[in-house]
Amino acid sequence: MLLAVTLNPSVDISYRLDDLKLDDVNRAAEVRKTAGGKGLNVARVAHLLGADVISTGVLGGSLGDYIERLLDQDGMKHQFLHTNQEARNCIAILHEQKQTEILESGPHLTKADQDRFLYHFRSLLQGISVITISGSIVSGFATRVYSQMIEIANEKQIPVLLDTSGETLKASLQNKRALPYLIKPNASELRQLLNRSIAINPSEWQEALSHPIFSDVPWVVVSKGADGAFARHQHNFYRVKIPKIQAVNPVGSGDATVAGLAKAIEMNLNDEGVLKYGMAAGLLNAMEAQTGYVDASKFDHYASLVEVQKE
Ligand code: ADP
Repeated sequence: MLLAVTLNPSVDISYRLDDLKLDDVNRAAEVRKTAGGKGLNVARVAHLLGADVISTGVLGGSLGDYIERLLDQDGMKHQFLHTNQEARNCIAILHEQKQTEILESGPHLTKADQDRFLYHFRSLLQGISVITISGSIVSGFATRVYSQMIEIANEKQIPVLLDTSGETLKASLQNKRALPYLIKPNASELRQLLNRSIAINPSEWQEALSHPIFSDVPWVVVSKGADGAFARHQHNFYRVKIPKIQAVNPVGSGDATVAGLAKAIEMNLNDEGVLKYGMAAGLLNAMEAQTGYVDASKFDHYASLVEVQKE
């Protein structure tokens, strides 16, 4: 069973408009509402790929109830910690080939909520084989909360796949006592982390992935959008090439990749299998209009087209 963590879930509302008129009324004929947040994208894709997955995080208010109802409709299991703080809406307006987003920051929680969440998280780990932690931390929780969760998971020898960025990722990598099993920065997150650009040649990539900041992190998978990925597992380096596809909406492809990686790790696949699963899930998401969604019937075909080269 996978456990997918989203600390700050949202109701994602998407409006499609022919054009966006500023300082005027815009009427949306096409509206879509989904349970959002990066970890819920991971959970949905893993669920669509046939994994047994349970979602957790912190939820409250009528929007929290609505998110749980949306998950129920999709047949997705969940065990959120409930608070008295309203969850958030995130709005995406699709207009003239553009996407304009308005993102609420979400509830502000307390140290007591954080302690309750860590207790709740620990109580869910029975029978869990892989954990994914995605996205930013809810306001009011400490930057080190992911490290604390990883420490609890490591005590129970459950691997954690961590997909976050900026200071949160840096803080998690600095705590060498509680390291994730896998991280999946994209190329720009890697540049930000190392504070430098990386040339296309494999030796620069190998050097970047051998940086001391990653020491003792078994898997580092750097996704590069339509260019596939570069990865390190222990001392082995891989370049992953993916087939050219007609991309419709690549938003959420990183989350789909994490879902594929998690499922493959749960299945104990070898390195090549892990990378193929991750890449195939990511590119299937890019082929769909809906964020965090894949057509599982295409999975085997596209996974077979992913090339994993050991460097
Ligand atoms: P993130 O969403 O975290 O920025 P990426 O954009 O690197 O992550 O996408 C993750 C993976 O999804 C890529 O490694 C690739 O497999 C797939 N993917 C993303 N965008 C495309 C695209 N335009 N064409 C094909 N595959 C894509």
